[in-house]
Amino acid sequence: MSTSAEQTINPADLFTGSYKMLINGKLVDADNSFEVFNPATGNVIATPPSASQEQVHQAIAAAKAAQSGWAALSFEERCVYITAYADVLEENKEELITILTTEQGKPRHTMATGEVDAAIYWVREVAQRTLEEEIIEDTDEHVVKVVHTPLGVVGAITPWNFPILLGLWKIAPCLITGNTMVMKPSPYTPLGTLRFGEMAQKVLPPGVLNIVSGGNEQGVWLTEHPDISKISFTGSTATGKKVMASSASNLKRVTLELGGNDPAILLPDTDFEPLIPTLFAAAFGNSGQWCIAIKRLYVHSSIYDKFLQAFVDYAATKVVGDGMDPNTDLGPIQNTMQYEKLLSMFADVKKNGYKVPLGGEIDESIVGNFVPVTIVDNPPIDSRIVQEEPFGPILPLLRWDNLEDVIASINDTEFGLAASVWGPDRAAAIDVANQIEAGTVWVNEIHIHGIDIPFGGHKQSGMGVENGREGLQEFTNTKTLMFAK
Ligand code: NAD
Repeated sequence: MSTSAEQTINPADLFTGSYKMLINGKLVDADNSFEVFNPATGNVIATPPSASQEQVHQAIAAAKAAQSGWAALSFEERCVYITAYADVLEENKEELITILTTEQGKPRHTMATGEVDAAIYWVREVAQRTLEEEIIEDTDEHVVKVVHTPLGVVGAITPWNFPILLGLWKIAPCLITGNTMVMKPSPYTPLGTLRFGEMAQKVLPPGVLNIVSGGNEQGVWLTEHPDISKISFTGSTATGKKVMASSASNLKRVTLELGGNDPAILLPDTDFEPLIPTLFAAAFGNSGQWCIAIKRLYVHSSIYDKFLQAFVDYAATKVVGDGMDPNTDLGPIQNTMQYEKLLSMFADVKKNGYKVPLGGEIDESIVGNFVPVTIVDNPPIDSRIVQEEPFGPILPLLRWDNLEDVIASINDTEFGLAASVWGPDRAAAIDVANQIEAGTVWVNEIHIHGIDIPFGGHKQSGMGVENGREGLQEFTNTKTLMFAK
């Protein structure tokens, strides 16, 4: 989508201005700063503030001071503020999209635009949601009601793969249920979050939303602070465990959206040709840096060879490049840490001599963290590429024959985020879906999300859910109120 607003933005202008944190309604700097890179060029694009511990504590104090006044408003009154926020985001969305592509790498015309549009839609829609009280009993003697009260101050910690969407996914339900928030974005992608903090300053009361930037320690300062009642965290399983351990100090509630190793399974006789673009996008979109990307694709042996050829032919047409170029299908890997993990994964595939019908070699002499689309042909089930979350544009295709065995293999993992099942017989596919251990299983469709659809991981892919009534309730205490008649 190309608009006149897009053409009037000079990306260079977005990064010369300084980025500020939002604390108690004021845009503030810090004594220290850190560098943010464009992963397509390796250039430093901005040096945002690195919050001191005192500033993180000030943000928490501001959120605490604002919380009772904010909670005293009705859902309808808070909806007015949050809808005004959606309007400001909408007015400034072209800027957010350009920042997102420049700091994160994803293509501007497809994924970055989609992420920002989805995020704004989420804010606007979640603003309309309420949690009505429930009457459990109403007899001649007494009444029993369940009501949902705000938790207080929520600490939110976000990753670098979908920084705008995942940030706003937390802000909207947190605020509509009467909580206030201190958010800390990933040190790799803080700029869009700082910018949407500036936009919030125009419409939200001081202290209701605070944004602090920096490295990992600012996250630790949130998880260990006694005035925070809940941590809403999205990131890796390893960090999620640290967040949970630290949150135990005052029994903070936690919602943890963590890593995944999502399988997709093609059943016998699947008419795969029309599915190839969808399956490719589901595996390689955002260059595979997606918690719910297909990371293991199990194909029945009756169609395996033909599928492999068709999938490789399609994948070979995709262009990896700078996300600002409209011809780019897949952008760079977002950061050097992740790029180096992929170098190690590619080296493992090569060392073990697995068959690689497409890609397989990362050219380290190229400027930018570019990794080619890579398909691995039927590596062993216990290989690293099958067992680990690669978080990059590399996908193993796995040949299977026996349904019982393949389901056992799919479930033999510590992860349980999402999965998909594809086949001509819907009842048979649903039967397989019922046997897969994951928070979401799609059948003959994939990556459908909705405001009212709970999303969360099983096993070590997470704890709790976001979205849906359950997601809203996770920002509240359940309170039982009884009175005699
Ligand atoms: P990460 O765990 O390295 O970092 C996530 C955030 O945690 C960052 O803001 C980081 O600064 C902060 N952090 C790091 N150490 C901390 C600590 N000890 N205490 C508090 N905060 C700390 O994850 P990442 O590399 O940014 O993100 C990629 C991971 O996120 C992948 O595993 C991916 O699958 C997962 N993810 C999950 C979902 C989901 O919804 N389940 C969505 C997106 C990404």
